[in-house]
Amino acid sequence: MSRPIQAQIHVEALRHNLARVRRSGPDARVWAVVKANAYGHGIERVYEGLRGADGFALLDLGEAERLRTLGWRGPILLLEGAFEQRDLEQCSRLGLWHAVHCDEQIDMLAVHKTHVPHRVFLKMNSGMNRLGFRPEQYRAAWTRLNALPQVDEISLMTHFSNADGPAGVAQQLAAFNTATQDLPGERSLSNSAAILRHMGAQAAASLRSDWIRPGIVLYGASPDHPEHSAADWALQPAMTLRSRIVGVQQLAAGDSVGYGSVFTATQPMRIGVVACGYADGYLRASPGTTERGTPVLVDGVRTRTVGRVSMDLITVDLTPAPAAGMGSEVTLWGRASNGALLPIDEVAQAGGSVGYELMCALAARVPVEVLA
Ligand SMILES: *Cc1c(COP(=O)(O)O)cnc(C)c1O
Repeated sequence: MSRPIQAQIHVEALRHNLARVRRSGPDARVWAVVKANAYGHGIERVYEGLRGADGFALLDLGEAERLRTLGWRGPILLLEGAFEQRDLEQCSRLGLWHAVHCDEQIDMLAVHKTHVPHRVFLKMNSGMNRLGFRPEQYRAAWTRLNALPQVDEISLMTHFSNADGPAGVAQQLAAFNTATQDLPGERSLSNSAAILRHMGAQAAASLRSDWIRPGIVLYGASPDHPEHSAADWALQPAMTLRSRIVGVQQLAAGDSVGYGSVFTATQPMRIGVVACGYADGYLRASPGTTERGTPVLVDGVRTRTVGRVSMDLITVDLTPAPAAGMGSEVTLWGRASNGALLPIDEVAQAGGSVGYELMCALAARVPVEVLA
């Protein structure tokens, strides 16, 4: 028998989450953000579930090419634009739209040879201070771009840094709206948190945009956990990670478990040894001390990890699942076969991380099954 760990991708959940996004932004076209190999899910594996989007946004040319190979003829947006001159040749060849966030990228466009002018998304740095032109530089960048024969339509874009928290989007939105007031072109705002938290029923008209850019919601995790869970937002997990128990130990009071002996039994107990470790993408930082474990489902029953995460194995408390033993199903996150759910956000939080990081970290050695 092969090692029993396996991930599952739920195509129906992807469709459900995309529909959920459309309910929040019924007038907007949707860029399905599939960067980082679709947040670890695999571009080819999510394609069927997300092809109802209006376009795909990502930042890697190889990934864009894979989408074209899958047969996608619609819009693809390179969120960070060209990294070097010859990337623009690939944009021309593959028909990609691309962000322009700095003068160097305009310089590259100005010397680019193309028969078909490019559709570009001019990025404003409205306060995050990563990529983009500051509001006071924005118009000059637009004017420069607009004069280039290599450029077709110019769309206007910014990215929110605090859509998931109390600071919200108001300040950045005001900066963007003021600086773009009389500029023509389509607008693209709103990541998942902005879509869910700020585009609800009483959506500020000023947050309306032609293109929204959901990522994490499509995969069924919450952008503002723990304030809201994925269930609060009516999202369904698109990824399940499951394995099985490959060893059982009976502990006496005082016995400890694993490297560093960070967990010590206070009474006799059974523990299960699970074929999953940090080399599969499970966070090594997930706690398994005597005081605090990381949630996990055994036969669909919630329990906790005990002991440190090692490369290939973790250990779990079998007390809540007395019938469990060798071969029992263990759900690391996602949906157990009895239907029980373990949100990836809870597992990530225990280890001091977020659902985003956990799903992106799914290791290449884990076999993945796509469930239609
Ligand atoms: C990653 C990304 C998004 C999607 O963010 P989520 O929080 O996953 O919805 C949107 N826009 C840009 C520019 C991004 O880089």
